Amino acid sequence: MVTGCSPGPAPYDSVWTDAQPATPKITMRSETRARKFFIRLEPNHPSRFLHKNCLLVGRLPEQAGNVDFLVSTNEDIKSSQFAELEEKVSELDEPLYRARQIADWLYQKRAQSFDDMTDLPRAFRTKLTEQFNFAKIETVRVLGSRDTTQKFLFRLSDESLIESVLIPASPALYGSRSDRRTICISTQVGCAYGCKFCASGLEGFSRNLKPNEIIDQIIAAERESGEKIDNIVFMGMGEPLANFENLMNAIRIINAPWGLGIGARHITVSTSGLAPQVRKLAEEPLQIRLAISLHGATDEVRGQIMPINRRYNLETLLTACDYYASRKKQRLTFEYILIADVNDSPDQARRLARIVRRLQAKVNLIPYNTVHGLAWSRPSPEQQKQFLSILRDRGVAATLRREKGHDIDAACGQLRLQTKRELERTVI
Ligand code: SAH
Ligand code: SF4
Repeated sequence: MVTGCSPGPAPYDSVWTDAQPATPKITMRSETRARKFFIRLEPNHPSRFLHKNCLLVGRLPEQAGNVDFLVSTNEDIKSSQFAELEEKVSELDEPLYRARQIADWLYQKRAQSFDDMTDLPRAFRTKLTEQFNFAKIETVRVLGSRDTTQKFLFRLSDESLIESVLIPASPALYGSRSDRRTICISTQVGCAYGCKFCASGLEGFSRNLKPNEIIDQIIAAERESGEKIDNIVFMGMGEPLANFENLMNAIRIINAPWGLGIGARHITVSTSGLAPQVRKLAEEPLQIRLAISLHGATDEVRGQIMPINRRYNLETLLTACDYYASRKKQRLTFEYILIADVNDSPDQARRLARIVRRLQAKVNLIPYNTVHGLAWSRPSPEQQKQFLSILRDRGVAATLRREKGHDIDAACGQLRLQTKRELERTVI
């Protein structure tokens, strides 16, 4: 199966296969900023061509002849900032107000193709089609739970599966008011960080999501649910700060008045603790919120369940957090999953209190969501409350999250994993 590409004329200029991952010889043909690559696929030879705007994965059957593909790596229209739209519009000799019209069609009227943009001249629409991709994400499954948490499984243009969770109004979730609808979105396909308790890491990392794939989760969830989303948490699949440029480009569009218009203070990025990127995020002008997945109050406990702690230990991470807090003048949130007999002891609670007070941060305690195939479990409700009261007795602002959607496998990565396993069973 070959995806993400279109057949094109020979001669080809490059061959890149998994078997020979040497630097591909690619000659680029540039038309304004559209780029095209010619790739040759050989029979029965797995091939993978990766470019920041395009992914081609394929294998031809043995009996097939060689096939040449023309791969267009045009940027997606929903990955473009307003200034880039204006630049493109003027390159195409159209008046600048066309950029505003395009943005309106994308983010207000929610067009699903250039053809929908009926007040743009037809010839201009054709040029846009040549210059930009307009990818769509396809809804594969929607699960709703009793408390109306909804979980979406989406398929991307290269067949990758990602998931998003729509959480109904909930008091004080990440600093938001109680009337806000929150969506938890993914930033990568899979995750490379391999936390021991997490479904997203179980099958490893495939690729980063592009800005349009991040934004489309919000647009598609609004369309599917009929709800207006006004709070975004980057707590789905993947490590957002490992996909920094695409994440920031998506956030700029989510936040912009010409884009989705969601205030920076209603956008929370969660990280497993990439200390250098926390510092980098501190330099960004937007006042987005930061949540740190701590899950252990000592290197010993954290290191057992989060491999990232070996690269950036607690002190390195907390120093980066000090820096973030000083630059942003806002309170950080520490996420702390309670896992029975792993990180739920009174001693961990006391040490956690010390860490949180040092940063004047707050804590979200999250009872662990069971993941199929993993042996971890959540402590009893009494133990959860005891952990919470140790924190509160020490003056720490802490909440114990009632895990919405426990009944629909709401923890990140689980629906995808379950669906992939079902599909594998069907194929075999
Ligand atoms: N990679 C980032 C963001 C995605 S994970 C991070 O780790 O912060 C979002 C949150 O879900 C993290 O706090 C993560 O630890 C938590 N999480 C993962 N698996 C979980 C599970 N089974 N039950 C409860 N929370 C889980
Ligand atoms: Fe990746 Fe976050 Fe899951 Fe860890 S918790 S494996 S960083 S998604």
